[in-house]
Amino acid sequence: MFRSLFSFLSLRSATAFVFILVLATAPALHAQSSVAPAASPANDIIVLHAAHILDVEQGRLASPGEVLVRGNRIVEAGSSVAHPAGATVIDLGAATLMPGLIDAHVHLFLHPGAEDLQTVVESVPERTILAEIAARDDLMAGFTAERDMGTEGAGSADSAVRNAIDSGLIPGPRMMVSGNAISILGGHEDAIHFNPAEHISSNATYANNAGELVSVTRQQLKEGADFIKIYQTGADRFADGKFTTPYQYTEAELAAAVQETARVGKRVGVHCTGEPGALYAAQAGVASIDHADQLSPETMRIMREKQIYAVPTFAISEYFAAHADSPAFAERERALLAFHAAEFRKQLAAGVPMAVGSDVGPFPHGTQAREFELMVEYGMAAVDVLRASLLNGARLLGKQDVIGQLKPGFYADVIAVPGDPLQDISVLARVSFVMKNGVVYRNELQR
Ligand SMILES: [Zn+2]
Repeated sequence: MFRSLFSFLSLRSATAFVFILVLATAPALHAQSSVAPAASPANDIIVLHAAHILDVEQGRLASPGEVLVRGNRIVEAGSSVAHPAGATVIDLGAATLMPGLIDAHVHLFLHPGAEDLQTVVESVPERTILAEIAARDDLMAGFTAERDMGTEGAGSADSAVRNAIDSGLIPGPRMMVSGNAISILGGHEDAIHFNPAEHISSNATYANNAGELVSVTRQQLKEGADFIKIYQTGADRFADGKFTTPYQYTEAELAAAVQETARVGKRVGVHCTGEPGALYAAQAGVASIDHADQLSPETMRIMREKQIYAVPTFAISEYFAAHADSPAFAERERALLAFHAAEFRKQLAAGVPMAVGSDVGPFPHGTQAREFELMVEYGMAAVDVLRASLLNGARLLGKQDVIGQLKPGFYADVIAVPGDPLQDISVLARVSFVMKNGVVYRNELQR
């Protein structure tokens, strides 16, 4: 999560929202299960046909567009494909076929308005049920793969959600999960707004030196983490156009965590808003620097050289600005967003590789396609934003050979959108068809 913003006073309305959310989404579950009865694609042969298909690598549309799917894999994709005898043809009309979206920064275990005290007022079982609903909402919005950046105090419950999705028990994206994120005593997410004598839980797991980072990393991996999430900066301050944030770990400390994670072929992603924490993270060789409000020229050079991704997470800042508790806070958020947008343009000019991550959770799951629009608005070409989500996102998740493109042998993660995302990125917010792993979860187009 980005930063702690909501007061205790907002908690009651937040809790009420949860129950409204559960009630409101219950009928939808029925509707969707009638659309998508199949839990396993077996060896079904499906031909998807539409007016267009996106080649994200080449950055162009082909017309018409077809994808041949056998079981959970793509056999062929292009303007026309073989139509084997017995294949089910799904005609998606005027839509554009494209790979399922990848969100590299989500929080299934967060919902709007409740982040600071979730560990106090909500049990882990309650939060796990909400996480399942969040996973379904993200999938139905076209996100077929995600990196979950910490449960915020729900331990490794994310592993159970990932496993339930993977085994077909519940609908959701392919999840890469980190368990509970790691932070220092008194650092980001350590309930520092509250009376310390009350011992309000941190939303992260403590590690205060390199040795503890290694121990906690081993524990997270034992509990099922696919990668490790570390808070590297905070609390942020922004005043008079100047951004400052304390670092939490030295380069040597972070390097110990990176090395221990790499020992088992896994990687570290950091919450990191600025310098000098970003430089230490880049030098230590993390896989991604998430938020990245402010990066020095040297940090950007290292990120380009080592292909460390920046994940800007603009959507959360926009949401916080629009839902601030006070006009002063809204103004500060808007100023910070403008500052980050300016820094983002410098990062693009410096060739920093980008992935798309929304930080969804504190704002409603399923609405995070807004992130694509903001990245375009702040200066990135639509084709590059699509590549950042699909190609770079797949690399960041370590799945570049199986997701992010419509290619033979890749998983059949295919969505349809109304129009050309290269010309109008906002079509990603209007996904009308979702197939994941060869199973159709949503189809508003079939005739
Ligand atoms: Zn986050």
